[in-house]
Amino acid sequence: MDTRNAETPTTFNKEMIAKVWDTPAPQKARVTAWRILRNRLPICDNLRKRNIPMVDEEIMCNMCFHQIETTNHLFLLCPKTGVVWDEIQRWLGVSAARPHCAVSHLDFFAHLGRGKKSQKFLTALWICIIWLLWKRRNESRFEGKAWDIKNTIYDWGCESKNVELEQNFQAA
Ligand SMILES: [Zn+2]
Repeated sequence: MDTRNAETPTTFNKEMIAKVWDTPAPQKARVTAWRILRNRLPICDNLRKRNIPMVDEEIMCNMCFHQIETTNHLFLLCPKTGVVWDEIQRWLGVSAARPHCAVSHLDFFAHLGRGKKSQKFLTALWICIIWLLWKRRNESRFEGKAWDIKNTIYDWGCESKNVELEQNFQAA
């Protein structure tokens, strides 16, 4: 079954969406995560499906320029953003293969922690990372800023690494 990103949410989607709201992540970040899990962000593939006119170059991922920009590509499968998840998994000491859809990825990521407190923290971390990736994508697409992986990792690291991770995360 892979209707998990469909706009009509499955029970599983609803459970994951409820978890998104039940975290201390910033409100704007939670709204972005909710839109991703419902596939309602203005991703190029979604705009095209709504018959919004776009030239061929516009629908391509502006990180790698090799694939059409879809939700799952942009946030998970693109080599440029995939590096961010690789780094985070390395930092957490986990080397498992990642699911290729956003809802399953959130579930996977949250369960890298043991216990409800760790899982809630990792859900919040996932939301913040997704939000940061979306902001970076928009800066790249609309302001011409270069995608800078080091700064992206540094930004989330500064916000979470030393402050909360050690208190909240226990590896599974
Ligand atoms: Zn890409």
